[in-house]
Amino acid sequence: MQTHFTLAQLADPDLDEANKILRACVHCGFCNATCPTYLLLGDELDGPRGRVYLIRDMLENNKPATALVARHIDRCLSCLSCMTTCPSGVHYMHLIDQGRAHVARTFKRPLFARSLREVLARAMPYPERFRRMLQAGRLARPLAFLLPRKLKAMVNLVPRHQPPRGIVGRPRVFPAEGKRVKRVALLAGCVQKVLSPAIDDATMRLLTRHGCEVVVAEGSGCCGGIVHHMGRDSLDFVRANVDAWTRELERDGLDAIVINASGCGTTVKDYGFMLREDRAYAAKAAKISALTQDVSEFLTGIGLKPATLATGQRVAYHAACSLQHGQRVTAQPKTLLAKAGFKVLDVPEGHICCGSAGTYNMLQPEIANALLGRKIRNIESLNPEIVAAGNIGCIMQIGGGIGLPVVHTVELLDWATGGPKPAALG
Ligand code: SF4
Ligand code: SF4
Repeated sequence: MQTHFTLAQLADPDLDEANKILRACVHCGFCNATCPTYLLLGDELDGPRGRVYLIRDMLENNKPATALVARHIDRCLSCLSCMTTCPSGVHYMHLIDQGRAHVARTFKRPLFARSLREVLARAMPYPERFRRMLQAGRLARPLAFLLPRKLKAMVNLVPRHQPPRGIVGRPRVFPAEGKRVKRVALLAGCVQKVLSPAIDDATMRLLTRHGCEVVVAEGSGCCGGIVHHMGRDSLDFVRANVDAWTRELERDGLDAIVINASGCGTTVKDYGFMLREDRAYAAKAAKISALTQDVSEFLTGIGLKPATLATGQRVAYHAACSLQHGQRVTAQPKTLLAKAGFKVLDVPEGHICCGSAGTYNMLQPEIANALLGRKIRNIESLNPEIVAAGNIGCIMQIGGGIGLPVVHTVELLDWATGGPKPAALG
């Protein structure tokens, strides 16, 4: 694609990066074929190619975003299916990140939309605030029918019950069972530890059973992805995690930073890029990104112990977009589940997002629900007993609409190798 940035514009490292990405695009439109919003809405501007043009126009001409541009950028799920499909290697993720930041800087949303985003950005990355937000949501449930459409959609997403706090709630070190073979940091995270603390607990048991010392580092927390995908500055979260893990690295070494929420994993693997212009942090952040692995990658590397029970249950594996498109981790979770004795079933149209996408199901409930319906039909066509996924957003989204237990892959692996049966399986 031709671009016409001036030399002065190209002195800005972000615009220089955008220019390189845009020039890689040959506007073939292959990406439209696998874009969920293009499939649903059929509008060129709701496909990746159209969004690439919109972003080029805003950045090249330094134009403020219009309501129309903001609408089409907001409808993008950041599922990155287009990146998997693109034959030219267009780094759509870094481009849409710039597009969202430009919209956030230059477009004033209507008051309600602004306030909603503000509340989400101020609550979700902080577990205690998020817990209180969920409590308020539960109280509001009986009056949900009186609320505006988007608030009603949000309240309906609030789980009916708050699970008790898990073992892996606070910074501490969990010793390896037997001889220590690896030392790893586990991302402390934010939303997951409130919505499903059992996932971190299962991860910790699984890792310590496999000879890993597991560190939840003091000072680590939200990866920053939630606010980053809303076009806001997330670098304070990023620097806090880089500092926390660098301290652990210097104290006693780390073989890996293990992440069990693939949305967060995609963000942490990008820390090196996000902080590339920060002289004090660039090298440290690149090191952190290089050490980061999804839990399924890490377990594949160290080898899963033989299963202690063989359930043979039919598990529909839902590939989270952030795992399959963001991190290109596709085979490992399925291979591990099969090794653990489950019969693994591939979900048809597995490359299409379930509609969760961070805050997307709250901000774009109609599209999110249409995608969820499609996902559920595809899963049910397999007649599975369990659904497994590697990302909390997908687990909550699919779990809220399907009459089957939806669990994290590690909960099944933990169970199969000596841990307790996941609560969701009764
Ligand atoms: S597939 Fe890649 S090169 Fe083709 S239009 Fe989409 S982003 Fe551009
Ligand atoms: S990230 Fe997903 S929704 Fe956005 S343009 Fe790409 S394929 Fe479409």
